[in-house]
Amino acid sequence: MRFLLTGGAGFIGSHTCVALLSAGHDVVVLDNYSNSSPEALRRVERITGKKVKAYEGDCCKAQDVNRVLENEKIDAAVHFAGFKAVGESVHIPLNYYENNINSTITLCRCLSAHGVKRIVFSSSATVYGADNQPPYKEDMRVGGCTNPYGWTKYMNEVILRDLQVSDPEWSVVLLRYFNPVGAHESGLIGEDPSGIPNNLMPFICQTAAGVRDMLHIFGNDYPTPDGTCVRDYLHVMDLAEGHVKALEYAVEHQGTEVFNLGTGEGYSVYQVVNAFERVNGLTLNKEDAPRREGDLPESFADAGKAEKILGWKARRSLEDMCRDAWHWQKMNPRGYHG
Ligand code: NAD
Ligand code: UDP
Repeated sequence: MRFLLTGGAGFIGSHTCVALLSAGHDVVVLDNYSNSSPEALRRVERITGKKVKAYEGDCCKAQDVNRVLENEKIDAAVHFAGFKAVGESVHIPLNYYENNINSTITLCRCLSAHGVKRIVFSSSATVYGADNQPPYKEDMRVGGCTNPYGWTKYMNEVILRDLQVSDPEWSVVLLRYFNPVGAHESGLIGEDPSGIPNNLMPFICQTAAGVRDMLHIFGNDYPTPDGTCVRDYLHVMDLAEGHVKALEYAVEHQGTEVFNLGTGEGYSVYQVVNAFERVNGLTLNKEDAPRREGDLPESFADAGKAEKILGWKARRSLEDMCRDAWHWQKMNPRGYHG
């Protein structure tokens, strides 16, 4: 089958290109490269030996989306495109609401007009908010988000559910990602954050590489076993393979379905740091620091539904995630701009 990946040149999108091509599907990418590089797609071609058809364009612009749909026969779309920096979303909320919501509405209108009524959406564990206790289950009440980025994910879920109710021919799969980290094992593609990384694993990698002086561990007095926050880290290639299953499911079923994509296991910041040092044989400059505002003590999935219905389960370990993240960093000290 042939799938449209909006934001397909980004971190998760590029790995999903590899997983889909390796599973025998074709991919078409629509990306404006606002947070990525076309080089990622050339690397995907190197890894897979297959062609990636790419269009430069903005998902908020109907003419850009229609150009793709007029040229390509598409079976379903994955909507990765969007802004994703939590802290930035607090400072420029309108940019986040504009890009993350308009892109979904425009994409759905164009897909519908071309008779492509199947979409897999990149949602996030952040929609579980502060009111639920992990392990998070798909049927928990969502909302209570703590920042505009989180609200865009919540609102997109509502919009897509409402669309499906209005037109039962639609198939909507909402994927709530936990904490994707790592890189393809080749080291050719990986996470390439612009500026100072917000997320733990890229910050660890840049500290190990000497790009950053010091890793600050935000808070050691949380109500967790070692006092640092617990997250459900999953290898980005496991996450990518989850999209293959989700797309195949979307093609077979109508309705709205939501799946957590996580391992179901939580690791603390100290555990991640220790694993990274052990697996890669190095010592990080690190120090305990005050809590970061807005952090929840714990977040991890109940990963049972994706296993039961999609037949998907994360296979790679925390050690794999740490090894592959460092491999990518070492091979590409300046990301795709090296
Ligand atoms: P990313 O920034 O690497 O990829 C997003 C891609 O979308 C980029 O290539 C960017 O250039 C593109 N893009 C942004 N706005 C666009 C627009 N209007 N038109 C066309 N292209 C546009 O991010 P990622 O980590 O790969 O995340 C992919 C999706 O998954 C995002 O929606 C993100 O919010 C969601 N998500 C990510 C994480 C995570 O930790 N990385 C966790 C949960 C959910
Ligand atoms: N974290 C940290 N130092 C950093 C970046 C993150 O201690 O430089 C902590 C952060 O406080 C959180 C965990 O690592 O407890 C995961 O953070 P990340 O931003 O990667 O994911 P999120 O909090 O959005 O789930």
